[in-house]
Amino acid sequence: MGMSLLTSATESVYGEDLEMFRDTLRAFYRREVEPNVKNFEVDGVGHDIWRKAGAAGLLGTCVPEEYGGAGDKGLSIVIGAEELGYSPAGASAGAFLGTDICTLFLASHGTEEQKQRWFPTIISGDTVQCMGMTEPESGSDAVAIRTTAVRDGGDYVINGSKCFISNGAKADLLYIIAKTDPAARAKGMSIILVPTGTPGLTQRRMKTMGYAGGDTGEIFLDNVRVPTANLLGPEGGALRIFQTQMALDRMQVCSRSLGAANQAFEMTLEYVRNRKIFGQRIIDFQNTQFKLAEIETDLAIGRAYMDDLVRKYQKGTFDDRDGWRAKIWFPEMEFRTLDTCVQLWGGNGWMDSNPISRMFTAARVQRIYAGATELQKSLMGRAYIK
Ligand SMILES: Cc1cc2nc3c(=O)[nH]c(=O)nc-3n(C[C@H](O)[C@H](O)[C@H](O)COP(=O)(O)OP(=O)(O)OC[C@H]3O[C@@H](n4cnc5c(N)ncnc54)[C@H](O)[C@@H]3O)c2cc1C
Repeated sequence: MGMSLLTSATESVYGEDLEMFRDTLRAFYRREVEPNVKNFEVDGVGHDIWRKAGAAGLLGTCVPEEYGGAGDKGLSIVIGAEELGYSPAGASAGAFLGTDICTLFLASHGTEEQKQRWFPTIISGDTVQCMGMTEPESGSDAVAIRTTAVRDGGDYVINGSKCFISNGAKADLLYIIAKTDPAARAKGMSIILVPTGTPGLTQRRMKTMGYAGGDTGEIFLDNVRVPTANLLGPEGGALRIFQTQMALDRMQVCSRSLGAANQAFEMTLEYVRNRKIFGQRIIDFQNTQFKLAEIETDLAIGRAYMDDLVRKYQKGTFDDRDGWRAKIWFPEMEFRTLDTCVQLWGGNGWMDSNPISRMFTAARVQRIYAGATELQKSLMGRAYIK
């Protein structure tokens, strides 16, 4: 019995083209990523896999057509995130192909020169991107960042550090958020493009609880000098630029949760149908059946909820409240699903050799990054008070 709750192409809210993209991506994960998971653990996902993804036409989907891309407006990122969650390797590979929102920043705010320079290698997989906002002293409170960029002739001189950055250790193009006018607080934050190898720039991989093969990086900027032409968008415009892609950022995290929860359900159903204890299969216990029924109900709600968000995005009616609510619900749903699944797997669920164990730790971070659950609730709370 096929128990996947992923929609078929005919009923998909994404449409046929994006469903084809989903199929190609899923096949790529099976062929290139899943067999290599153990290699990633040594030094993260290598550029070779990025280049293979580029050759398979999976990168730079949001690059405008006039620059050789597919010109997608962002939903390829959402569907891509779902597939990253759905692949058992996603829990090890971490963010991997999931930093493509940077491409949209470049498409909407890049200069002609920046686009000409970077788009071709973003499409080919030679340029891995990362977005560096978070710092040791500022995560949820993003406005508190301390990294500064000071104009000096035709350059910016950047000083500071970043941490927990997805693809941060391997990235070739770093979108560094720095204060160009510290007194202006939120309005004094700018995005500056910093290529890897720039003197004074150090990128390091961080050891993490989950994402064993992933690249979560820390970045140090010590008098890093780049031309002012590397400014992306207007000076002081970082948060406004972020706001334009906030819906997609929320949706991609939520979509990943949905994909991962779906995979966990399928894997667990298979497992409990085969494992025997006390002379019967684990599936024969009513407790197991009830737990799976609860998960399937969550998945059905999640699918309908995600479809609704996608429709709102397509119509341009996705608002802040949609993002806050979704970022609360999906990761929390994923986590309770994975917690239940690991319980049904017993000791095997704790073993590193079984992907369900990695999916459990990967689910944990979903409630923290891209705005912790509590931050979303506090934003909703602030709106009630107004
Ligand atoms: C794997 C991973 C990848 C990441 N990728 C990136 C990236 O690519 N780029 C980037 O810039 N950042 C990235 N981050 C950083 C991420 O966005 C931050 O971790 C997140 O914003 C939370 O900030 P913090 O970790 O400093 O936690 P803190 O801000 O210290 O918050 C700690 C806890 O405080 C609570 N809290 C927060 N706000 C409130 C509130 N308003 N009310 C009540 N309680 C609250 C929550 O429980 C929260 O978990 C990544 C993080 C991880 C773990």
